[in-house]
Amino acid sequence: MNRYLQSVERLQEAKNYVAGGVASSLRASMKPTPLYVQKAYGARILDVDHHEYIDYMLAYGPLILGHAHPAFNEQLYEAMQKGSTYGLQHEGEIRLGQRLTEILPCAEQVAFSGSGTEAVMLALRLARAYTGRTKTVRFYGHYHGWSDAIFTSFPSPDFSSSGNTEAAGSEIIQGTAGQSQNSLKDLILLPWNDPAALEETLTKHQHEISAVITEPVMCNSGCIAPKPGYMEKMRELTAKFGIVLIWDEVITGFRLGLGGAHERFGILPDLVTIGKAMAGGIPLSAVAGKRDIMRLIEEGTVMHLGTLNGNGLATAAGLAVIQELSKSDGQAFKDMEHTATLLTDGIRSILRTNGLQAVVNQQGPVFHLMFIDHSEVSDFDTFNLRDSQLYTRFAEEMLHEGILVRPNGLWYVSTAHGEKEVQETLTAVEKVAQRIAAH
Ligand code: PLP
Repeated sequence: MNRYLQSVERLQEAKNYVAGGVASSLRASMKPTPLYVQKAYGARILDVDHHEYIDYMLAYGPLILGHAHPAFNEQLYEAMQKGSTYGLQHEGEIRLGQRLTEILPCAEQVAFSGSGTEAVMLALRLARAYTGRTKTVRFYGHYHGWSDAIFTSFPSPDFSSSGNTEAAGSEIIQGTAGQSQNSLKDLILLPWNDPAALEETLTKHQHEISAVITEPVMCNSGCIAPKPGYMEKMRELTAKFGIVLIWDEVITGFRLGLGGAHERFGILPDLVTIGKAMAGGIPLSAVAGKRDIMRLIEEGTVMHLGTLNGNGLATAAGLAVIQELSKSDGQAFKDMEHTATLLTDGIRSILRTNGLQAVVNQQGPVFHLMFIDHSEVSDFDTFNLRDSQLYTRFAEEMLHEGILVRPNGLWYVSTAHGEKEVQETLTAVEKVAQRIAAH
């Protein structure tokens, strides 16, 4: 722990003033201790104990251009000269709205908010108002932010595979103390990638369900891709029953391509939520989708509020990200995917050589590394069988080798990561794998 003494001391001091010492509960779980940062640049981050790391956590996803990207920063400075927020309208909102409707295939209009959680809240509200129904279908293993109406902890994996929707309704567990139990009564939890369970539930409860919300790739649990035909089936069924289909692209947006997963998969949801990478590390999110649903905001039927919504700094950040990612016909996405593939191929090979059983699921520039005694992980039940303790040890040892990875196994690659970072990372993986294999 001496290695991280400054971080440990800062955390103790922070606890005097900041509840829990960290600004988001998840950050407290980092082993051996939550790190304090001096500064960050490109793909790298420097802690207060003067250790430099290659950063694959990337602030839980937003830093698609890496840290302190020069052109991005320049546009932010420029925007700030004109004042950061007005509570009035400005050109940046129009230009970003326009660019988003050009880029996102499903977007006829957009509505800005500050975080992924808020965007999901708005999308669910729009769906309820549009359909006049109250229930929301969501899936085990997906995460849609921490608002009361959608935040749950998951019952046992056995239960999740039952597809018993009646039971699902009664078994949903609060995600946190203090959460209104009533807010969860309109939630129906289903296993994902299971077309039969979906069809059965939607058919049975078609007159009560306002929305189906899904991550297009189950990034939060194993980076699992949808089975062939599953998302098409979901689109077909929701259209048939007049249910609003919401794709939560808070992770996949601006990561699987400029037009997100729905462009990549060629399917049009009714609404998407975007955030994280959208503004490269500045708080900004949005709901985008069909004018017919979004018009409820203009009509004043659905309230959409937020003091800092669409502020000048955030919209400048959004425009700067789009500008950078659009260069050379989207070459940045090909490069990031290439870097991620070099990493995943390398990691698989090193772990195999050292006798460590693992699965690495990759989608574009994001991947999930799991230690597990299975040849593949393609559903939430199998994901739950992974050896989390071993991964925690791996992550901690990687930190000692100068590589920062999320404690849950999800790795992000940015435009700032290149072959040099890959080589250094694979060298570290080799050392750590040898140590783990030795005992
Ligand atoms: N939706 C998805 C798919 C997410 O992964 C997250 C956050 O990780 C959210 C929504 C919530 O976003 P935020 O943390 O910005 O509120």
